[in-house]
Amino acid sequence: MSENLSQLKSRMAKIARLGEAAALLEWDLQTYMPPGAVAARAEQSATLGEFVHELFTAEEIGALLAKSEADTAGTDADSDDARLLRALRRDYDRAIKLPADLVAEFARHTALAQDIWQRARAASDFAAFAPALEKMLDLTRRQAEALGYKDHIYEALLDIYEPGARQADVAAMFAEMKPALISLTQAIAASAHPVDDRLLHGDFPIEKQKALTLRAVQAIGYDLQRGRQDEAPHPFCTSFSRDDVRITTRFDPKFLSQALYASMHEAGHGLYEQGFPPEYEATPLGHAASLGIHESQSRLWENLVGRSRAFSTFLFPLLQETFPDAFAHVAPEAYYRAINKVAPSFIRVEADEVTYNLHILLRFELECDLLTGKLAVSDLPAAWNAKMQAYLGITPPNDAEGVLQDVHWSGGLIGYFPTYSIGNLVSGQLWHAIGQALPERDAQVARGEFAPLLGWLRENVHRYGRKYLPAELIQKATGEPLTSRYYMDYLTAKYRDIYQL
Ligand code: ZN
Repeated sequence: MSENLSQLKSRMAKIARLGEAAALLEWDLQTYMPPGAVAARAEQSATLGEFVHELFTAEEIGALLAKSEADTAGTDADSDDARLLRALRRDYDRAIKLPADLVAEFARHTALAQDIWQRARAASDFAAFAPALEKMLDLTRRQAEALGYKDHIYEALLDIYEPGARQADVAAMFAEMKPALISLTQAIAASAHPVDDRLLHGDFPIEKQKALTLRAVQAIGYDLQRGRQDEAPHPFCTSFSRDDVRITTRFDPKFLSQALYASMHEAGHGLYEQGFPPEYEATPLGHAASLGIHESQSRLWENLVGRSRAFSTFLFPLLQETFPDAFAHVAPEAYYRAINKVAPSFIRVEADEVTYNLHILLRFELECDLLTGKLAVSDLPAAWNAKMQAYLGITPPNDAEGVLQDVHWSGGLIGYFPTYSIGNLVSGQLWHAIGQALPERDAQVARGEFAPLLGWLRENVHRYGRKYLPAELIQKATGEPLTSRYYMDYLTAKYRDIYQL
């Protein structure tokens, strides 16, 4: 390794450690921090953030990066060092393209807009949020122009979360899925074999749910020596190194599914981060390939594994042991059907597997139209409601349950939503490849043998961290580019069976 590269790596390690410390402050804020500490914590986080930005955008970093690139020119383009420099170049160019005053204005407006949004949502008053959204769109457009793009302004934003993804490809993939999703949703609604999920509602004491969720996530391979589970109002996963990857969940003592599948989801994220190679620790490669790839891991464990008949077979004895009153006289098949109930609903985060992607499609289409000016902010609630009616057959009774429900637009995260659906598609494509590689997969899951499945993911996804762009990783792991085919095949087959279509 050249002297330049080794100096660059040691600088990056320091920056990474500061980032990990900042993440720990954020985890604490979401879990145990006393409410009175809000103002001081905001200052602490902002100070660390500014310091990290200063260190990273220093001219010396740019010089070391350029020299390291020259030193490694002509060497193996697929080596970890070459890939590390490629990832760093992306990060560095982005960081220096954004003018400091725009970054500061964006941060200030985000803090303000989130506060305005919270109050607007509580009052279900879109007009109160509209000016803040207008300004957020304006700042976002300036951000996109500074970052640059080839074909569509949305591309610059998508690229932040899903490196290399193009707006036209995502639009085409979504347009292809839309009619199939709408007709599947309608066929399910008209099915003569509706699903009864009352058995998931009842008395499920939180302490017992806690024990059950921990048994489930440990069974699939989440390592509690290098992680822990806590409670948070909005479940998330975070890490402060590959050896400290934490998940959170949210318990409802009257509804079993919420915590259990939230835990499976977050443990899926956690397994990914616990599987990064030790040599990537505190380097630009010790991260996820993208948000979509990250979400493919959580969705795979939550849905393709967690909501499968095979996993329900494995889980059922644990359920009966933990909640004998509720499950002593229930058949495993009734449980499997209950956790897979499909019903159009207003709130995205509560949506089932079939309707979830329609919620994302709607947001993606609206974001594109807002950014290009095709849709005015004042017309947004009506456009939202019209799409809800067209795609899901329901119209929200108010804006709180409609256009105001998500934090993303007030949080400056325009361009983020598609990564949820990309994650679903990737999970379906990986699941297909896993089925080919492990013909005994479902029988193993039913027996509680998760090591072969986790081993495949470690070998084909986790161990690469951020070495490859998402498109490269998908091609390498599955032998073909991203397609919606496998996920749609999975959904169609599963729900035709459940609803006897
Ligand atoms: Zn997730």
